[in-house]
Amino acid sequence: MAGELYDAGTLPAFMDYPTLGGGYAFLWDAARKGRLSHAYLLGGPRGVGKATFARALVASLFCERAVKPCGECESCRRVLTRNEPDMIEVLSPEDKPIPIERIRQVITQISRHSFGGGARVVLFEPAEKLTPAAQNCLLKSLEDPPANVLFFLLSHEPGALLGTIASRCSLVRLAPWTDERLRVPLARMGYAPENIEAALPRAGGLIGQALAVLSDETAQAELNTLTQRILSIKHDADAVALSTLLKDDRGCADKTLTALEQALQQALMVRTGWMSAQAVTDGALREWCQNGSVEELTALMKAVFDTRKRRLSQVNWQAGIDRLLMKILEAKTRWQQS
Ligand SMILES: [Zn+2]
Repeated sequence: MAGELYDAGTLPAFMDYPTLGGGYAFLWDAARKGRLSHAYLLGGPRGVGKATFARALVASLFCERAVKPCGECESCRRVLTRNEPDMIEVLSPEDKPIPIERIRQVITQISRHSFGGGARVVLFEPAEKLTPAAQNCLLKSLEDPPANVLFFLLSHEPGALLGTIASRCSLVRLAPWTDERLRVPLARMGYAPENIEAALPRAGGLIGQALAVLSDETAQAELNTLTQRILSIKHDADAVALSTLLKDDRGCADKTLTALEQALQQALMVRTGWMSAQAVTDGALREWCQNGSVEELTALMKAVFDTRKRRLSQVNWQAGIDRLLMKILEAKTRWQQS
């Protein structure tokens, strides 16, 4: 899950915040000592991990253990997995403006008693998406907050907020991490060292960006494996297993068709002399470059197009997939016999 530092299967990566220094260490220390003030404006580039950091701070308010936040107790987990009823998250769906009505709802909510009898937290992300009217409406609550309510305004661009809003919050800037610091949580989340090293130069010190690069690469690697599996079908049982797999995951089937089309296109280019066979590194595809006739490859491309058309027009596209897999199997059987 890109963008989420916390994963139920790994140790909470946020335990390293004090080592990041600057705004991270300062707020972490305040949270541990129970000295958070009532309104923070957390500024930092998109992908620096503002929301995850804010949730880790909030977890310290609800944590049930002596050293807070532990990241493991029921309360910490509720906050980190965004299931804490006393934490209201005001987000901008698809980067759309956050209207004044949403702020009115929040004000009504925080005027009531909290569910757990303790603190309530409101998190805005990104705060610059609040319309000017919404910001003005929020101003009063920031000036004179209800007891035990904390506000976290997260912003990629703190300068875009009304000055009156910014002046009522403590501004804390969150800087990108060094590569050395980024490696720790990424390794803890289970990414292979070589993949992490490949992603770091493209991450710019932003944990969110590093995760986006890594999850793209993981998805691409899975897709390559699946395409190879399809191209190396040898028996009826292989075709049946693949057919079931693609039937269960339509999103995956779309991407697979595209990947398959690209692979067949490459084989066709090799067969017609437009591309060197040396450029093909994938073993399964190499076999097609050596054995597949231009007619076979053209027929398979046509079968891919046909399957995609069925998919788009909601016709029984599964039949198209099955036919495609059978054609691959037939071609392979022919090569083995010749
Ligand atoms: Zn805890």
